[in-house]
Amino acid sequence: APLLSLRNVSKAYGNGTVAVRNVNLAIREGEIVSFVGPSGCGKSTLFRMIAGLGSPSEGTIDILGRTPEQSRREGGVSYVFQDATLMPWSSVLDNVTLPLKLSGTAKRDRLERADRVLELVGLKDYRKALPRQLSGGMKMRVSIARALISNPKLLLMDEPFGALDEMTRQSLQDELLAIREKDPRMTILFVTHNVFEAVFLSTRIAVMSVRPGRIAKEIEVDVPYPRG
Ligand code: ADP
Ligand code: ADP
Repeated sequence: APLLSLRNVSKAYGNGTVAVRNVNLAIREGEIVSFVGPSGCGKSTLFRMIAGLGSPSEGTIDILGRTPEQSRREGGVSYVFQDATLMPWSSVLDNVTLPLKLSGTAKRDRLERADRVLELVGLKDYRKALPRQLSGGMKMRVSIARALISNPKLLLMDEPFGALDEMTRQSLQDELLAIREKDPRMTILFVTHNVFEAVFLSTRIAVMSVRPGRIAKEIEVDVPYPRG
């Protein structure tokens, strides 16, 4: 069975905008799928639904026998927002451990797991820093660490590299591939406007079209970015 499946998923907003129309999708464990398409084609809407942050108007989404909402509460699916939304008055450590705090994880466990994910993103020495003291790339790393702390089976990222300069983008991409290397079963979905990113980083590309807000084409990438 696929890790994630969408069956006839549509989303109409209250104002009548149909943002996603009849999407069918099956994603296997360990796939890295990029979503490309023009602004307004429904990528964010689709990702929010998969992350359990808004339900479809029609159709069903299944993540290993769970609804997205259940999966989100259990930490099975994590979402990295486009702008690395961090709590401005909280330290890196507090930002990263927030999901565990909300789920009632004991403090010792929270700190151990924070150590692990901060190490993964190279921010172990920045536990006490505040978001405003960090560069854009570092904020995105904190945001990724926060998403990884629950050990998600499915990681969703909405344009994780979009706002970064070229060097930062490159090193963050390398880090993500390294993280993925350590946990090859983690499934990753990300949105990008960059065709090179889609081709080099993913095993499959889903191309969305503005009208009528659906997946117009899926492309298997035969030779993914050399890993290891
Ligand atoms: P992007 O092009 O980067 O995806 P958008 O400008 O489409 O960003 O959307 C930014 C935010 O505004 C999203 O969270 C989206 O839900 C919200 N939004 C977009 N269009 C509308 C709308 N017509 N009415 C209400 N909210 C909207
Ligand atoms: P993308 O992420 O590909 O830019 P979105 O999912 O943000 O696309 O938006 C898809 C369509 O839905 C757009 O027409 C957008 O204006 C509209 N939309 C997004 N969020 C809302 C919202 N909260 N209310 C109404 N319309 C929205």
